[in-house]
Amino acid sequence: MSEQDYHIDTLAIHAGQEPDPATGAIMTPIFQSSTFVQEAPNQHKGYEYSRSGNPTRAALEANVAAIEGGQYGLAFSSGLAAIDTIVRLLKPGDHVIVGNDVYGGTFRLFDKIYQRYGLEFSWIDQSDLEAVKAAFKPNTRLLWLETPTNPLLALGDIAALAESAPQDVLVGVDNTFASPYIQQPLTMGADIVMHSSTKYLNGHSDAVGGLLAMKDESLYTELKFLQNAAGAVPGPMDCFLVMRGIKTLGVRMERHSENAMKIAQMLEDHPEIVKVYYPGLESHPQHELAKRQMKLFGGMVSIILKSEAIAKTMVTRTKLFALAESLGGVESLIEHPYSMTHASTADTDIAVDPALVRLSVGIENVDDLINDLRQALHND
Ligand SMILES: *Cc1c(COP(=O)(O)O)cnc(C)c1O
Repeated sequence: MSEQDYHIDTLAIHAGQEPDPATGAIMTPIFQSSTFVQEAPNQHKGYEYSRSGNPTRAALEANVAAIEGGQYGLAFSSGLAAIDTIVRLLKPGDHVIVGNDVYGGTFRLFDKIYQRYGLEFSWIDQSDLEAVKAAFKPNTRLLWLETPTNPLLALGDIAALAESAPQDVLVGVDNTFASPYIQQPLTMGADIVMHSSTKYLNGHSDAVGGLLAMKDESLYTELKFLQNAAGAVPGPMDCFLVMRGIKTLGVRMERHSENAMKIAQMLEDHPEIVKVYYPGLESHPQHELAKRQMKLFGGMVSIILKSEAIAKTMVTRTKLFALAESLGGVESLIEHPYSMTHASTADTDIAVDPALVRLSVGIENVDDLINDLRQALHND
């Protein structure tokens, strides 16, 4: 059986991770070494210096390539460092189309940093295929998608959007919210998949990291050059933690999704809630696309409360849902995007609703989670 024949939950555990030839250790060792001894100048065992390559990182990079259905993987010190490296493929005067409901840090990177370097950005609703098609220009080089989006969980039709892009436009998908267990954008026509591995891939809230996966060798060669030349690489310990997390990705995503569905249904019926955003609900405007594109609906739920004050009170009242930025860990988190994760979008066209609350539903017992939310919403 070749690796191609294995399912993702098998690849998650085994891909890129042969037992250590020297010792038989079943877990990839943490090669906590900055440099590697050479026998003669340029005669070495494949590693020279850990910015250029490290065996623990190489195991993680091979693993992410496999679970995303790609050929090549690259690891970075954060999700934003991974996105930053993609943008470095471009040059001044190039145009980028970006979803208008992206992660706040992505917005900040593009708008506050790369605009200064002469890149041009168009912020378009990626759920509107015609609007995206109309936004391509002769100098467009990158279509940057995020689906489901953060925080409103709107979907982009990856296959249709990738199909609409001219030949010379790279299509990148931030797959952080779904994870490859739920959708594999490379198999739908995307050129690059990106992850904040800080979230579901690590899954245990104990490391910050970013990953890229791709099929095309020349694209990989360019990005690998940039990874080494710009240098935003992760340390071996963090690579080990992400790899360990990925082994349980499948069972975690099943449970995250099951819990989130029950919570979304409870919230939809709750009198204190104005609106629930969850791709698994029939009320979600793209529920049909979600069923087609996603294997499960994921662990993220966003809700609108009656006012900003009520939203801010709710997030301080939960006991199991911890008030914190980030998402995708086994423990449930709650946050107020307007003042926390998405504060950088305030006063812009893509600012979020001040009454919005975002939940990262963990894998605790769902009845305990539901009771926690109910008491936090109790109006007395
Ligand atoms: C967190 C996040 C990022 C940024 O990743 P970091 O690891 O925090 O740098 C990018 N995209 C999405 C969707 C995220 O949730």
